[in-house]
Amino acid sequence: MTESILLIVKPDGMIKGLAGHVLRRFEETDLKLVGARLAKVTDQLAATHYHHLRDKPFFEELIHFITGRLYAGQGSVLAFAYTGEDAVRKARAIAGATNPEEADYRSIRGSFGRVTTKGVFENVVHVSSDAIEGEREIKLWFHPEEITVDLFPAISAGGQSAWADPGGPKTRTGPWPQEKV
Ligand code: UDP
Ligand code: MG
Repeated sequence: MTESILLIVKPDGMIKGLAGHVLRRFEETDLKLVGARLAKVTDQLAATHYHHLRDKPFFEELIHFITGRLYAGQGSVLAFAYTGEDAVRKARAIAGATNPEEADYRSIRGSFGRVTTKGVFENVVHVSSDAIEGEREIKLWFHPEEITVDLFPAISAGGQSAWADPGGPKTRTGPWPQEKV
């Protein structure tokens, strides 16, 4: 089944100089790269992206991690959209298990991730958990015109484009919040 996923090189991956390595690992698959974006993650984007974890005790630390505040603000991330056969399984195999200590040591997380003393998994990359999350996350992180193929239906009016079905309240529907990259 054709699926689409969001890959993010998280702030720890960027600071450790792993963006090229991550991209190379994905280039070795048959997945098609259809979107790429450098972003400074706002609190709003982080909270929307990780809405399913909002009640977890590590949520605040997780937001500090993904926004780059754990790294004195050096927190730009690279976000990529990929599509292809069995994309979730292939991408998550490259990433490895969520906890770097449990991840296959040949995976990205197993090779380069760590667990902080506060219990956050600094695990280098984000990969969508399933195809539904993949669609929601790509629509959250990308405008339709930033995706190079017709992945999901979009509408345009007055020179602006938007996803036709943005995926409910957990997905951004308006313009991007102002971001400083
Ligand atoms: N996370 C964490 N501690 C946990 C579970 C998750 O620090 O006990 C962080 C970790 O960075 C993870 C992210 O929260 O990648 C999202 O968690 P999820 O369960 O969605 O795992 P993933 O889909 O990223 O493997
Ligand atoms: Mg997840």
